[in-house]
Amino acid sequence: MELPFLTIREVSESIKKKEISPVEITQAILERIGEVDGKLNSYITVLADQAIQFAKEAEKLISSGTYIGPLHGVPIGLKDIFCMKGVRTTCGSKILENFISPYDATVTRKLKDAGAVIVGKNNMDEFAMGSSTENSYFGPTRNPWDLERVPGGSSGGSAAAVSASLCFGSIGTDTGGSIRQPATLCGLVGLKPTYGRVSRFGMIAFASSLDQGGPLTKTVEDTALMLNIIAGNDSRDSTSVNSPVPDYTSCLNDGIKGVKVGVPREYFIKGIDTEVEEAVKRAIALVEDLGGVVEEISLPHTKHAVSAYYLLAPSEASSNLARYDGVKYGFRVYDAENLRDMYFKTRAEGFGREVKRRIMIGTYALSSGYYDAYYLKAQRVRTLIKKDFEDAFKKVDVIMTPTSPEPAFKIGEKTDDPLKMYLSDIFTIPCNLAGLPGISIPCGFTSTGLPIGLQILGKPFDEETLLRVAHNYEIHTNWKEKRPPI
Ligand code: GLN
Repeated sequence: MELPFLTIREVSESIKKKEISPVEITQAILERIGEVDGKLNSYITVLADQAIQFAKEAEKLISSGTYIGPLHGVPIGLKDIFCMKGVRTTCGSKILENFISPYDATVTRKLKDAGAVIVGKNNMDEFAMGSSTENSYFGPTRNPWDLERVPGGSSGGSAAAVSASLCFGSIGTDTGGSIRQPATLCGLVGLKPTYGRVSRFGMIAFASSLDQGGPLTKTVEDTALMLNIIAGNDSRDSTSVNSPVPDYTSCLNDGIKGVKVGVPREYFIKGIDTEVEEAVKRAIALVEDLGGVVEEISLPHTKHAVSAYYLLAPSEASSNLARYDGVKYGFRVYDAENLRDMYFKTRAEGFGREVKRRIMIGTYALSSGYYDAYYLKAQRVRTLIKKDFEDAFKKVDVIMTPTSPEPAFKIGEKTDDPLKMYLSDIFTIPCNLAGLPGISIPCGFTSTGLPIGLQILGKPFDEETLLRVAHNYEIHTNWKEKRPPI
């Protein structure tokens, strides 16, 4: 069965021409999920009946001559952090195990309005805290390129599902790298849009000043197609920006002659995997051959990004997660002496280890007496990091770096050492702290066949340049032809 291996562009063209029917393609995807997801665990919930229903509606509309656009009738996955009306939305946590959302997130609604067939909710690290999808209450997701390895995280279910062709694209979220890092480890394209580009309404909050939703797909063009649908202002998210959404596909084929590419020396450090470093340098050299003007730059405060992030993100999380108290949402412990005891026990049993660790760190960093020393200081560092980028973008149009310092690591390899796990995001975190757009695209494989990714960072709201540069690189390579062995 070849259908699931197509790209969004390919499948949508066939749907538009009525060569494939949405029902047929949805059935093919559901069948493949049935065959291989037992090995991957990339879905927490598969919406088989509902997906067929969506597909039938799409089919009816299309055969009556109403074709909505490139996602019409296309099976898509959704990280289980996005609320979907009438469907359980777990955020990878026991505390929301049986939470049925009473409403759609804006992203969910936009996908539905575009005619997409949402086939299921993808696995993720609990409350998006993690870099390996091992922190899911629903068990770890495995990497389709090597089942002994992690798919990255926290959107690891989305990445594994797209990579193994269990949906054509998925929407993930990225607070410190959770779209780009799993995209890299699974050989995909993953875009974190500028903070404010995509509505966060109905996207369960982890660290609200950093969280942003975005696509994971097989090609840059597919990412552009999905961004066209999900981007835009939303009166229900006061941080979403009211600026027009361009057609992100229209500039893809413009060349990149003269595009100024900065390569920050702080991102090529000791400890980075040599095969990763070589692949990324080769990619930058190809961009130069294609007309890019490459120069070395400096982002001097990079080394403080991980420390600042791991104070700011937990601080915001400790506040955001206060709402899970057994009263308003989901899981509750009943054998409690009194209300306080119920809160204690519900949170003790409902949250996993990493989430509790973050709540404790965050509560400490915000507590009176420590606030100035930790939270406030981290905010100051954040400002310096943002300024580094502002200075750099006076000289260059995009910045190129490795996405992850190493390819997919083994399941269990870092679970006992949180610091080691946190360092997986060393190259992705600064972009979130500065609110910038960032994309990861495949740029090679290790000698053992694991995918490697190139990260491209851009100016605020300049996703167009990122996508154009990424697309130009992609069409001059053939990494996307390679499929995982599963
Ligand atoms: N891995 C990072 C963390 O654990 C980033 C997670 C994310 O982007 N959601 O916080």
